Amino acid sequence: MTEPSRARRLLDSASQHLACGADVDELLEQVADGDADRLSEHQRTCPHCQAAIAEFRVLWAPVQEYARQPVRLPQRLRASVLKQVDRLVHDVWYTLQLTDIGAVRVAARVVAAVARDAASQVPGVRVALGRSTESRIARLVSRATSGHLHPHAAVGVLGRTAVVDLALAVSYGQPVHEVALEVQRRVIAELKENIGLQSVTVNVTVDDVSPKPAE
Ligand SMILES: [Zn+2]
Repeated sequence: MTEPSRARRLLDSASQHLACGADVDELLEQVADGDADRLSEHQRTCPHCQAAIAEFRVLWAPVQEYARQPVRLPQRLRASVLKQVDRLVHDVWYTLQLTDIGAVRVAARVVAAVARDAASQVPGVRVALGRSTESRIARLVSRATSGHLHPHAAVGVLGRTAVVDLALAVSYGQPVHEVALEVQRRVIAELKENIGLQSVTVNVTVDDVSPKPAE
Protein backbone atom coordinates (compact mmCIF):
# COMPACT_ATOMS: atom_id res chain seq x y z
CA MET A 1 0.00 0.00 0.00
CA THR A 2 1.32 3.44 -0.82
CA GLU A 3 1.76 6.23 1.70
CA PRO A 4 -0.91 8.48 0.25
CA SER A 5 -3.65 5.90 0.40
CA ARG A 6 -2.78 5.23 4.03
CA ALA A 7 -2.89 8.94 4.63
CA ARG A 8 -6.28 9.04 3.02
CA ARG A 9 -7.55 6.15 5.08
CA LEU A 10 -6.39 7.71 8.31
CA LEU A 11 -7.88 11.09 7.65
CA ASP A 12 -11.29 11.84 8.99
CA SER A 13 -13.69 10.04 6.72
CA ALA A 14 -15.72 13.18 6.24
CA SER A 15 -13.82 14.80 3.42
CA GLN A 16 -12.85 18.38 4.15
CA HIS A 17 -12.36 21.26 1.81
CA LEU A 18 -10.53 24.54 1.74
CA ALA A 19 -12.33 27.81 1.16
CA CYS A 20 -11.69 27.48 -2.59
CA GLY A 21 -13.23 24.03 -2.66
CA ALA A 22 -9.95 22.11 -2.89
CA ASP A 23 -10.01 18.66 -1.31
CA VAL A 24 -7.80 18.53 1.80
CA ASP A 25 -7.05 14.82 1.34
CA GLU A 26 -5.79 15.43 -2.17
CA LEU A 27 -3.53 18.28 -1.04
CA LEU A 28 -2.10 16.14 1.73
CA GLU A 29 -1.49 13.31 -0.73
CA GLN A 30 0.30 15.69 -3.04
CA VAL A 31 2.62 16.75 -0.19
CA ALA A 32 3.09 13.17 1.03
CA ASP A 33 4.05 12.18 -2.53
CA GLY A 34 6.75 14.86 -2.53
CA ASP A 35 4.89 16.86 -5.15
CA ALA A 36 4.45 20.02 -3.10
CA ASP A 37 6.30 21.99 -5.76
CA ARG A 38 4.22 20.69 -8.63
CA LEU A 39 1.40 23.14 -8.46
CA SER A 40 -1.65 22.79 -10.64
CA GLU A 41 -2.94 25.74 -12.60
CA HIS A 42 -5.46 26.45 -9.87
CA GLN A 43 -2.89 26.15 -7.10
CA ARG A 44 -0.53 28.58 -8.76
CA THR A 45 -3.06 31.35 -8.29
CA CYS A 46 -4.90 30.18 -5.17
CA PRO A 47 -3.84 31.62 -1.77
CA HIS A 48 -5.83 28.95 0.09
CA CYS A 49 -4.11 26.04 -1.62
CA GLN A 50 -0.69 27.67 -1.32
CA ALA A 51 -1.12 28.25 2.42
CA ALA A 52 -2.33 24.67 2.93
CA ILE A 53 0.50 23.13 0.94
CA ALA A 54 3.12 25.17 2.80
CA GLU A 55 1.67 24.22 6.18
CA PHE A 56 1.26 20.53 5.27
CA ARG A 57 4.81 20.42 4.02
CA VAL A 58 6.08 21.44 7.47
CA LEU A 59 3.72 19.06 9.27
CA TRP A 60 4.56 16.13 7.04
CA ALA A 61 8.34 16.63 7.20
CA PRO A 62 8.92 14.33 10.21
CA VAL A 63 7.00 11.53 8.48
CA GLN A 64 9.07 11.97 5.34
CA GLU A 65 12.26 12.01 7.41
CA TYR A 66 11.31 8.68 8.95
CA ALA A 67 10.46 7.19 5.60
CA ARG A 68 14.07 7.71 4.48
CA GLN A 69 15.40 5.61 7.34
CA PRO A 70 15.49 1.82 7.36
CA VAL A 71 13.25 1.65 10.40
CA ARG A 72 9.55 1.15 10.49
CA LEU A 73 7.57 4.36 10.68
CA PRO A 74 5.72 4.41 13.97
CA GLN A 75 2.01 4.43 13.28
CA ARG A 76 1.71 6.87 16.14
CA LEU A 77 3.73 9.55 14.35
CA ARG A 78 1.66 9.41 11.21
CA ALA A 79 -1.57 9.37 13.17
CA SER A 80 -0.54 12.38 15.21
CA VAL A 81 0.36 14.36 12.09
CA LEU A 82 -2.97 13.52 10.50
CA LYS A 83 -4.75 14.53 13.68
CA GLN A 84 -2.99 17.89 13.51
CA VAL A 85 -4.04 18.31 9.89
CA ASP A 86 -7.57 17.54 10.93
CA ARG A 87 -7.53 20.27 13.55
CA LEU A 88 -5.97 22.78 11.18
CA VAL A 89 -8.60 22.36 8.52
CA HIS A 90 -11.44 22.33 11.02
CA ASP A 91 -12.10 25.97 10.26
CA VAL A 92 -10.25 27.16 7.17
CA TRP A 93 -11.16 30.79 7.85
CA TYR A 94 -8.93 30.97 10.92
CA THR A 95 -5.26 30.60 11.71
CA LEU A 96 -4.49 28.12 14.46
CA GLN A 97 -1.63 28.09 16.90
CA LEU A 98 -1.60 25.35 19.50
CA THR A 99 0.13 26.31 22.73
CA ASP A 100 0.59 24.60 26.07
CA ILE A 101 -2.13 26.75 27.55
CA GLY A 102 -4.65 26.48 24.73
CA ALA A 103 -5.37 27.30 21.10
CA VAL A 104 -5.08 30.71 19.46
CA ARG A 105 -7.17 31.43 16.39
CA VAL A 106 -7.12 34.59 14.30
CA ALA A 107 -9.77 35.17 11.64
CA ALA A 108 -8.56 35.45 8.04
CA ARG A 109 -10.34 38.79 7.83
CA VAL A 110 -8.14 40.10 10.64
CA VAL A 111 -5.03 38.89 8.80
CA ALA A 112 -6.40 40.67 5.73
CA ALA A 113 -7.04 43.90 7.62
CA VAL A 114 -3.55 43.93 9.14
CA ALA A 115 -1.98 43.18 5.75
CA ARG A 116 -3.93 45.92 4.03
CA ASP A 117 -3.08 48.40 6.75
CA ALA A 118 0.64 47.60 6.61
CA ALA A 119 0.66 47.89 2.82
CA SER A 120 -1.13 51.22 2.83
CA GLN A 121 1.57 52.69 5.12
CA VAL A 122 4.10 52.43 2.31
CA PRO A 123 4.42 55.86 0.68
CA GLY A 124 2.79 56.05 -2.73
CA VAL A 125 0.53 53.03 -2.26
CA ARG A 126 -3.17 52.78 -2.69
CA VAL A 127 -4.06 49.22 -1.84
CA ALA A 128 -6.86 46.85 -2.59
CA LEU A 129 -6.96 43.32 -1.35
CA GLY A 130 -7.18 40.69 -4.00
CA ARG A 131 -5.97 40.28 -7.50
CA SER A 132 -7.04 42.21 -10.51
CA THR A 133 -10.78 41.89 -10.78
CA GLU A 134 -10.33 40.93 -14.42
CA SER A 135 -8.72 37.60 -13.68
CA ARG A 136 -10.38 34.25 -13.94
CA ILE A 137 -9.23 33.27 -10.48
CA ALA A 138 -10.76 36.40 -8.92
CA ARG A 139 -14.12 35.36 -10.32
CA LEU A 140 -13.59 31.84 -9.11
CA VAL A 141 -12.59 32.93 -5.63
CA SER A 142 -15.50 35.31 -5.30
CA ARG A 143 -17.83 32.52 -6.36
CA ALA A 144 -16.26 30.16 -3.83
CA THR A 145 -16.68 32.70 -1.04
CA SER A 146 -20.13 34.04 -1.82
CA GLY A 147 -21.74 31.57 0.55
CA HIS A 148 -19.35 32.17 3.40
CA LEU A 149 -19.83 35.80 4.38
CA HIS A 150 -16.06 36.08 4.35
CA PRO A 151 -15.21 38.70 1.78
CA HIS A 152 -11.45 38.58 2.20
CA ALA A 153 -10.83 35.65 -0.08
CA ALA A 154 -7.48 36.99 -1.19
CA VAL A 155 -5.98 35.75 2.07
CA GLY A 156 -5.40 32.05 2.52
CA VAL A 157 -4.60 30.90 6.05
CA LEU A 158 -3.89 27.54 7.59
CA GLY A 159 -2.22 26.90 10.92
CA ARG A 160 0.54 29.49 11.17
CA THR A 161 0.89 30.01 7.43
CA ALA A 162 -0.67 32.78 5.38
CA VAL A 163 -0.63 33.63 1.70
CA VAL A 164 -1.78 37.15 0.92
CA ASP A 165 -2.63 38.51 -2.50
CA LEU A 166 -2.52 42.27 -2.70
CA ALA A 167 -3.41 44.39 -5.67
CA LEU A 168 -1.91 47.86 -5.55
CA ALA A 169 -2.30 51.14 -7.25
CA VAL A 170 0.93 53.09 -7.07
CA SER A 171 1.13 56.86 -7.24
CA TYR A 172 2.42 58.17 -10.51
CA GLY A 173 6.18 58.77 -10.46
CA GLN A 174 6.96 56.19 -7.77
CA PRO A 175 9.44 53.41 -8.54
CA VAL A 176 6.91 50.61 -8.92
CA HIS A 177 9.32 47.76 -8.31
CA GLU A 178 10.70 49.27 -5.11
CA VAL A 179 7.27 50.12 -3.79
CA ALA A 180 6.16 46.52 -4.38
CA LEU A 181 9.19 45.10 -2.56
CA GLU A 182 8.65 47.46 0.36
CA VAL A 183 5.01 46.36 0.58
CA GLN A 184 6.08 42.70 0.72
CA ARG A 185 8.66 43.43 3.38
CA ARG A 186 6.33 45.43 5.64
CA VAL A 187 3.34 43.10 5.33
CA ILE A 188 5.44 40.03 6.10
CA ALA A 189 7.06 41.70 9.12
CA GLU A 190 3.73 42.94 10.42
CA LEU A 191 1.95 39.58 10.10
CA LYS A 192 4.80 37.73 11.76
CA GLU A 193 5.13 40.20 14.62
CA ASN A 194 1.51 41.05 15.26
CA ILE A 195 -0.35 37.88 14.32
CA GLY A 196 2.39 35.44 15.25
CA LEU A 197 2.44 33.74 11.86
CA GLN A 198 5.50 31.68 11.00
CA SER A 199 5.32 31.58 7.24
CA VAL A 200 3.97 34.45 5.19
CA THR A 201 3.94 34.83 1.43
CA VAL A 202 2.84 38.13 -0.06
CA ASN A 203 2.05 38.26 -3.76
CA VAL A 204 1.86 41.80 -5.04
CA THR A 205 0.20 42.80 -8.27
CA VAL A 206 0.50 46.41 -9.36
CA ASP A 207 -2.73 46.97 -11.22
CA ASP A 208 -2.92 50.66 -11.58
CA VAL A 209 -1.10 53.97 -11.40
CA SER A 210 -2.99 56.73 -9.67
CA PRO A 211 -2.51 60.27 -10.85
CA LYS A 212 -0.95 62.82 -8.53
CA PRO A 213 -3.66 64.41 -6.43
CA ALA A 214 -4.63 67.85 -7.64
CA GLU A 215 -3.10 70.61 -5.55
ZN1 LIG B 1 -7.36 26.46 -4.01
